[in-house]
Amino acid sequence: MDKNFQEEFTQIIKFKPPLYKQRHQFVKDLVEKYKPKKVADLGCADCSLLRMLKFCSCIEVLAGLDICANVMKEKMHTLSPLPVDYLQPSERSLTVTLHHGSVAHKDPCMLGFDLVTCIELIEHLEESELKKFPEVVFGFMAPSIVVISTPNSEFNPLLPGVMLYRHPDHKFEWNQAQFQSWALETARCYGYSVEFTGVGQPPTGMEKAGFCTQIGVFVRKYPQTGESVQCEKPTEAVYKTVFKAVYPSLKDEKYLQNAVISEVIFTAQIIKHRLMSKHEEYGDDPERKSKFQPSMDCFSDCLGKLVVEKNMEPFVSGNEVYIPLATIFSFPKVNRLCGTFEKLCKLIAGKVTLSSDGSAVMFNIEHENEEN
Ligand code: SAH
Repeated sequence: MDKNFQEEFTQIIKFKPPLYKQRHQFVKDLVEKYKPKKVADLGCADCSLLRMLKFCSCIEVLAGLDICANVMKEKMHTLSPLPVDYLQPSERSLTVTLHHGSVAHKDPCMLGFDLVTCIELIEHLEESELKKFPEVVFGFMAPSIVVISTPNSEFNPLLPGVMLYRHPDHKFEWNQAQFQSWALETARCYGYSVEFTGVGQPPTGMEKAGFCTQIGVFVRKYPQTGESVQCEKPTEAVYKTVFKAVYPSLKDEKYLQNAVISEVIFTAQIIKHRLMSKHEEYGDDPERKSKFQPSMDCFSDCLGKLVVEKNMEPFVSGNEVYIPLATIFSFPKVNRLCGTFEKLCKLIAGKVTLSSDGSAVMFNIEHENEEN
């Protein structure tokens, strides 16, 4: 490479967004494309990729593994649920776990993943660990997809201040041919196909250098059979779990019940409010008030387009307002949360005041009448 040309570039190469963000975005895009439910990040370091992935709504199980417990522990609290996660539990379930251990060892907690990411990990492995790595990841874990990124040494001359390796802990840095031959051999050995790409574009005129970070995306060629999943999978646990967070989810009956109760009361209040404002228009005649049967038109704007039967109409009787459960159930959000009318009844039983036959939510408006 022409030295002057090289020097010129080393002055100006600055990736935007920064390279680590580009690598993480690459993984996020892959997650959005393949929609894996279970993702494991090997060599997760400070968990920054996991922190980003927890917002991908397809993921239900996230695991991190690192040989250095301290680096994981530094920011692992940021993987815990936030108050808002409890206030508005998500529809999906999500469990985040961090393990302390080496990718050179097999542990049953690493089985069953759809996607395994190894971002800037392999160049940190000792020769003996690198030898065991393919058998652990491709042979034992055998996920549908594996992503491996590693520095491309051909790019190093373009980076300012890089003498031998980009990081003092790197045990090696491969050029494109070295990475590709290792990846192709690994893929062939374990029944995967592999495609090469990268992040960190080389400058114009330097395309031959390739991407600053080279990436191999491995896709398993054959579905795993029940036999291959079970055979030769040792059950002995060698990793230590250092963190586990189970996010509140509507899949958990406890959170679903709370959400349904709040939604039912909220919905009933909206209907009651609309009903009462119409009711007031009828003046003080108690005869007329008690017989008041509003048209559903008076709150159809919040119901959306609903087919409302006669027996679904709310009504006032004396000091009580009755909002039929069937009406509440026809609200899209309540409907989606409960699925069936029976489930709605079961979830609110004993938690919401109902009419004696259990068919309507009942509000006493005596106090409200006094105020008016
Ligand atoms: N994946 C991270 C950074 C990786 S740095 C990111 O994208 O930002 C490499 C990480 O691999 C370090 O945290 C290091 O502790 C870990 N590591 C090194 N050898 C390992 C091994 N044998 N098993 C698991 N993790 C290892």
